[in-house]
This record gives sequence, structure tokens and C-alpha cells, in this order.
Amino acid sequence: MKKSVTGLAVLFSLLITVIVVRTFLYTDSETSQDGIPGVDVSLDETSVVSRLSQAIQFPTISHGGKAFDAEAFAAFNHFLRESFPRVYSQLKVQQINDYSLLMEWQGKDEKLQPILLMSHMDVVPVIPGTEDSWTWPPFEGKVADGYIWGRGTVDDKSGVLGILEATEKLLAEGYQPERSVFLAFGHDEEIGGQKGAVTIASLLQKRGLFFEYVLDEGGVVTKGVVPGIEGLVAVIGPGEKGYLSLKLTAKGGGGHSSQPPSETAIGRLAKALSRLEEDPFPINLQYTADFIQQLGPDVPFVQRMLFANRWLFEPFADGLVPDVPALMAGMRTTTAPTMLSGSVKDNVLPLNPSAVVNFRILPGETVETVTERVREVIDDDSITLENYGFGSNPSRVSPTDSFGYQQLERSIHEVIADPSLRIAPRIVIAATDARHFDALTDSSYRFMGVTLGPKELKGIHGTDERVSVESYLQAVKIYYQLIRNSTGQS
Ligand SMILES: [Zn+2]
Repeated sequence: MKKSVTGLAVLFSLLITVIVVRTFLYTDSETSQDGIPGVDVSLDETSVVSRLSQAIQFPTISHGGKAFDAEAFAAFNHFLRESFPRVYSQLKVQQINDYSLLMEWQGKDEKLQPILLMSHMDVVPVIPGTEDSWTWPPFEGKVADGYIWGRGTVDDKSGVLGILEATEKLLAEGYQPERSVFLAFGHDEEIGGQKGAVTIASLLQKRGLFFEYVLDEGGVVTKGVVPGIEGLVAVIGPGEKGYLSLKLTAKGGGGHSSQPPSETAIGRLAKALSRLEEDPFPINLQYTADFIQQLGPDVPFVQRMLFANRWLFEPFADGLVPDVPALMAGMRTTTAPTMLSGSVKDNVLPLNPSAVVNFRILPGETVETVTERVREVIDDDSITLENYGFGSNPSRVSPTDSFGYQQLERSIHEVIADPSLRIAPRIVIAATDARHFDALTDSSYRFMGVTLGPKELKGIHGTDERVSVESYLQAVKIYYQLIRNSTGQS
């Protein structure tokens, strides 16, 4: 008896040692910017800021169902042409489906694979009823208090204008890229990207092109956003989650509310929804593990221990990982009931009440596997499931040791000479146009060089969207360095 207790104690202390050692070793030694000198990129700051401000003044809104504002998009296209004369005269510029843009800057060496930089020209509408809550009108492009304010300042006109500013500057300097540089700006990203990115991707595919890497929006430099970390964290998205909305309908209801059955259709629907909430998708630490590893010693010990010993803790992760929605979103397929509809009268039992549930799908699962699991969890044949709106599978997850990722890391370090800066990959939890380009590259990344704190992040698709002047200039410089680094002589 005593012997086995001692044996257990030895085993236990061995296990503790393994866990602790693994935790301390769980850091990437190359997280610092050793050997990467800062680079000073000079910009005509007043003009650069003024052009973004003007860009915000075009209400290029993707409304979805509502009428398309052709005038705003045509005027925005015209504004770009006027603002970036070298780009338009020296690059091959194609209008795709009238308003999207594909630009091609021919490189000197045709043997080198081209790169593709992307962003989108459309913005989401201002949420009805919040117009008066904005500090400055959303389409005024106001520059005040060190910020550029308005819808699209972050998502994603900083991307469109930032890429064009960098390209225009390089052209003005007489720069000639070794490899070709493609630029793509869709005009309907916020409503699925069919006319913009999807059409552009199929055009490029028909030409037989394959890219060294593709860069789109998605990640940013965060400040005070990653729990427990005070410094800057540049988050690069090597992939993105999939998207699915399912409409659950409880059939066979109806009747007068004065004589309801013991089980109503709404009751069945409510049960189905609560089952989904009580039985969430399993936690998968894999896609957050690289992120934690890159942050290394900056991450609190307990969290690092969890990720360093995934083999041991993953099955119990549900109780161990703090239940923070932003954290959870990177670790599981999320379940979010968003729309409910029943009867239109208080004394009428609805015939077919329904609910729409939105899922963001983690890589490793698909639209089909998610639908299948939902059916199992609900376990009620009287509830039908149908797809609601568009759905998409998760993108591929690109490697973080590729040429593209390395050039991105290097360019970020060159421009942001802050010793606290860490660069780490994390799956993007929203959808971007980049997912349409999986067949055109092995390496697609989602990143834009603006620095955003919690307040600025809230403005994206919300109220008071804004970008600090300083961080927008930083984004332009990172695009500039990235193009140089990726297309210079090696
Ligand atoms: Zn966007």
C-alpha cells in the first residue's frame, strides 16, 4: 500500500515537472526584433491624412437588400484616379463589374511569383438610430483630436488608401519591383464579395496566376486588447473562420391562445435553442496555441501552462479557459441566436415560429459538419433546419514560416520600433475577401498596420469609427516597407 502511494507521488511530481518545464519552454525565441533596424519612411503627412479624410466623405455603403448607390462608388473611383495619378498611369488598371479595381504593377523578373495586396472600398451602414451618438458625422471625414473620424476609417479605407499611398510613393521614387505587385479593391466585401473579390479571383485563376502571398484586412496592431499584456501585439491572421446561419423552424403550431396545447411550437423552438446554448461546440486550443507561444513570457503563467500542455488540459479546457467571449471566439465554433419570429398577434399561436442562429466555424469543421451537429444536439424532428443567407467554410490556415509572413514581420518591426511589440498569428473571427483566394496562393495573411485599442475596435461596424493619425501613417509605412521588402532584389 505504502509503496504504491510513494510510486504515485513520484509520478505526480514528475508530471508537475513536465508541465512546468514545458510551460517555461513554451516561447518562441525569435519574438524580439533583434537584428531588424528601424527604418524611417518619410511621408507628406498632411496630404496623406487629407486624402483619407476625403475618402471617408464618399458614402460607399453596402446596404445588402437596399438599392446600390452607384453614384457614390463612381465618385469614389473618380477620386482615386485623381488622387493617385502615377498609379493610374503606370499600372495596368482594370475596372471589374464597374466599380471594383484590379491593378497590376509589372515586375522585372517574370520568374518570380507576384504578390497581391487587397482591401475593400465599401463600408457598412451607420446603425439606424445611432446617427446622433457619433462625435463627428460619420461621412464628414473630420480630423480632430489626433484622429480621423468616420465610417470606413478603419474598415477598410485605411487599407485602400494606405496601399495606394505606398504604391504612389514608390512610383514617385522611380522604384521598380523585381516581382509583380497586384492590387485588388472590391466594392461589395460587406455583402459577400461576389461582384468584387470573387470575380477578381476567378479572373486571376483563368490567367493561371499563383501568388507568393496574398494580404488582406483582418488583423491589426492591438494595444491593451490581449488580456494580461500591456504592450503592442501585432496580430496577423493566417486564416479565418467560416460562416453559417441556420434557420430553425418549429412546424405544426397555430391555433387560438385560449386553448393552447401542452407543448407549443414556441416551446419546442425555445428548447432547441437552449439545448444549443447548453451544449456548445468543443474547445480546440490548436489555433490559439501559436499565438500564445509567440507572446511567450508576456502571457501569465497559468495561461501559458494550459497551452504548453494542451495534450493534458484540452479535454478540460471548458472549465479552465476564462469564459471571455473574445477569447472563446478563437477556440471554438461559436453559436449565436440572432433573429426570432413568432406570431404577429398576442392571442394567436404562431404557425411556424422560427429562429436564426449564426455560427462562426473554426478550421477543421465545415458547414456540413456544423449543420449535422446542430441537428443532433437539437434532437427534435419537428424542427426543420435550412441555410439562411450565404455560408462559407473556414479558410485554409497558412504557414507562419513562409516568405510572406517573414516579410510582414520584418516590415512591422522596421516601422514600429517599440521594444514591447510582439507579432503573433491568430485566426480571424470575421469573414474577409481573402477567403476567395485560397486556390491562388499557399500563403494568405490578414493584417493592416494601424494600432487600435479597445475603443477603436468597438468603432468598427459600430459608432465613432476612427483611426489615429499616427497609426494611419504607420499603416502606410508598413505597406511601403512590405512592398519594398517583398519585391526588392534578394
Ligand atoms: Zn472589412
